[in-house]
Amino acid sequence: MAGVQAHLILQVALWREDNLSEIAAFPWAPSRKFRWQAEHAIIRAMARPRKRSANKPSRRSRPAESGTRFQNLSASLAEIGRSFYHRGWVFGTSGNFSAVVSERPLRLAITPTGLDKGALDADQFLEIDEAARVVSGKGLPSAETGLHLAIVRTRGAGAVLHTHSLWSTLLSDNFSGDGAVALEGFEMLKGLRDVRTHEHREILPIFENSQDIARLAEQVEALLSRDPSVHGFLLRRHGLYTWGKDLAEAKRHIEILEFLLEILGRSRNGV
Ligand SMILES: [Zn+2]
Repeated sequence: MAGVQAHLILQVALWREDNLSEIAAFPWAPSRKFRWQAEHAIIRAMARPRKRSANKPSRRSRPAESGTRFQNLSASLAEIGRSFYHRGWVFGTSGNFSAVVSERPLRLAITPTGLDKGALDADQFLEIDEAARVVSGKGLPSAETGLHLAIVRTRGAGAVLHTHSLWSTLLSDNFSGDGAVALEGFEMLKGLRDVRTHEHREILPIFENSQDIARLAEQVEALLSRDPSVHGFLLRRHGLYTWGKDLAEAKRHIEILEFLLEILGRSRNGV
């Protein structure tokens, strides 16, 4: 009898996803009380109108939705990574990419360390939590994961992209004495979030490169907290970081900033 009841309850649980917690609370024992509770739970569940808030996904569907979102974001990040490789922005194992899978709890899809970005595959991505612990996937997260988390925390970014392009590496050194690269007067600036005119002056701060990522993340977090106008920053002789409200915006920001850095670099160096 208990087996039949258990089967029925399971059927209802699958059908009534938002009733899972109620049904799961029943003791799995073949007592009269148990059968009575199970039968009434089934009747109540079937009599209730099926409703589900768009803002409050069911317990059962949440992990599945999260898993699908992680897979979709990983596939998009892999595609972006391969395209950046072919544009010369992330040669070898350089660069790293992340996107927010969920905000509460915070989960990021991120590149593992040491992967060839020209052959990036969706299956290689890791899911990490707010402390950079791996939740799913194999391998270690990128060495610069702390910077991704700092940007997501301070900017509420939905995606963070980092390149090691020739021009970002060169100009971050050329302008390190100024502490920033200024980009102004170009139509392409309008591709940056909330920029409406080519007369905009975009400041890309330059941080001294360091292998102490925790300390670097503190510096980045402090600057991003006090200057909300910043769309990206450079690490000296290292590369470019930018982000966006979602992956499409972060990708656009990389394309805009890489274009503008190349313009500046070529005009300065006459090439
Ligand atoms: Zn890097």
